[in-house]
Amino acid sequence: MIKIINSEEFSYFLRVHRNEIIKQWMSKSEVQNVLHRHSLPIIEKNTHLFYQFCDCYISVIEWRATISECQIKIDFLQLLNNYNVTTADLFTLIIKLKNAIEQIIFENGNLSFALHSEIDLLTLQMANDLASNFESMINGNKNYKSENSNLLAEYKKAVDLSNIVSKTNPKGVITYVNDKFCEISGYARDELIGKPHNIIRHPDMPREAFKDLWDTIKAKKSWNGIVTNMKKDGSTYIVDTTVIPILDVDGDVVEYIAIRHDITELEQTKQQLRNINKAMKYKVDELYSMTNALEQKAYKDNLTGINNRENFEDIFAIEIASAKQNALPLTLIIFDVDNFKLVNDTYGHQAGDIILVDMVNLISNNIKKGDIFARWGGEEFVILTPMTEIVGASNLAENLRKLVQSHRFNYVENEITLSFGIAQLTSDDTKITLFEKADEALYQAKNHGRNKVEIYK
Ligand code: GH3
Ligand code: MG
Ligand code: MG
Repeated sequence: MIKIINSEEFSYFLRVHRNEIIKQWMSKSEVQNVLHRHSLPIIEKNTHLFYQFCDCYISVIEWRATISECQIKIDFLQLLNNYNVTTADLFTLIIKLKNAIEQIIFENGNLSFALHSEIDLLTLQMANDLASNFESMINGNKNYKSENSNLLAEYKKAVDLSNIVSKTNPKGVITYVNDKFCEISGYARDELIGKPHNIIRHPDMPREAFKDLWDTIKAKKSWNGIVTNMKKDGSTYIVDTTVIPILDVDGDVVEYIAIRHDITELEQTKQQLRNINKAMKYKVDELYSMTNALEQKAYKDNLTGINNRENFEDIFAIEIASAKQNALPLTLIIFDVDNFKLVNDTYGHQAGDIILVDMVNLISNNIKKGDIFARWGGEEFVILTPMTEIVGASNLAENLRKLVQSHRFNYVENEITLSFGIAQLTSDDTKITLFEKADEALYQAKNHGRNKVEIYK
C-alpha cells in the first residue's frame, strides 16, 4: 500500500528536505542548461537568490504566503533578465523546482489527490504571475497575449504527464485535450476539439454545480470541485477538477484550463462504505430494539407492565441495605384483590385481566416516583416506600383502598376492593422477615373482613 502524504506531512517534508530540494533543483540538467546557455554565473550571491526564490515558492505552495507577498521574486526576475533568460526558460525553472519537490516527496510516498491538484494550481498561478511580471520587465510594449499560449505550452508538458487536461476558449469550446483526457472519456481527439465542453457532461450533475463553476471562472477565479462526467459509451467517471482562467496582461480571460484527477474508484469505495454503514446502522437499530424488548421481558410483568417479582426482589434487597446504612425508614405494603376468584368466575378470566391492568394503572398514577410498585404474583402486589414511616405508608394504603373501591371498572357491576398489609423495616429485618410481617398483616386484613389496611404489630 502506497503511503498518501497529507498537507501536514507535506509541510514537514518541505522544511526537513529544503536543502535537498534546492540541490536537486539546481543540479537538474534543464536548470543547468538554462544557466549555461545564458552564462549566468553560479556565484554565491546568485545561488543565494535561487535559494531565496525556492523558499518563496515553498511558502506559496504551502499556503503560507501569496505570490504577491514574495518580494524576492523581483530580485530573482531581475537577475534572470540581466542574463537575458527567456520567459520559456523561466517556466522551465519553475517546473523543475516543482519536479524536484515531487521527486523528494515520491521517495517517501504519494501526494493526496487534493494536494496534487493544489500544487499544480498554485504553481500554474505562480508561473503565470511571474511570467507577466517578467514580460513587462523584459519589454513593456510586447504583447503578452500573443506569447501567452506559447508560454503555457511549456508548463503544459509538465502538467500533461500526470493529469487529465483540457483547455477551452472563453466560450467553453474545447481547444485542447491531452491523451489522458481522450483515454478516460473514450472520445478521439478530433471528436472533442471544437465541441462545447458539455459533451462530457453527465445528466445527473445538477445545473447549479455548473452555474457555480461558470460564475467563479467568469469572475477570473479558479474553481475546484468533484464532477461526475459521462464517457462516450454512457458510463460515468468521477474527477477532482480544478478550472483555472488564464488572463492576459490586460486581465482578460484568454482561455480556461481544466486539470483533473480520476477519483472514480475512490468515490465508488466511499459509496460502498456509506451503503455498508447504512446497512449496519439498520442492523444495530434492530438489535437495539430486540435487546430492549428482551430487557422489558426480563424486568417487567407481561400483563401489567410494572416490575415483575424477580426485579422487585433485587430492588428490595438494595433498598433494605441502603435504608439500614443511612438509617432511613423503609416500609413495605402488600395488597391482594378481594374475592378475585369470584370476579373471574362471574365475568370471565379476560375481564379479570382487564380489571388487573386498570387497577394497576390507577395505582401507578397515585404513588410517588420513588415508590417501587411490583406484581408479586396472581392478584397480589407490593409497594415499597423508601424514606417513609409506617404512618405515611398506611395513609397511602388507605387512600389507594378508597380510590379503588370508588372506581368504576368496566365489565363489573360490583365494586373491586383490596386488602392491605403493612410493615416497617427494623434493624433486625431481612427481606424475608419484612415480607413475612407485611404478609401477616395482610392476612389479618383478610380475616377482619377484607377491604382493610392492617399494620403489622
Ligand atoms: P381473597 O379475597 O381471599 O384474596 O380471595 P380470592 O378469590 O382473591 O383468592 P384466591 O387466591 O382464592 O383467588 C385468586 C384468583 O385470582 C384466582 C386466580 O385465577 C385469579 N388470578 C390470579 N392471577 C390472575 C390473572 O393474571 N388474571 C386473572 N384474570 N385472574 C387471576
Ligand atoms: Mg385475592
Ligand atoms: Mg391472592
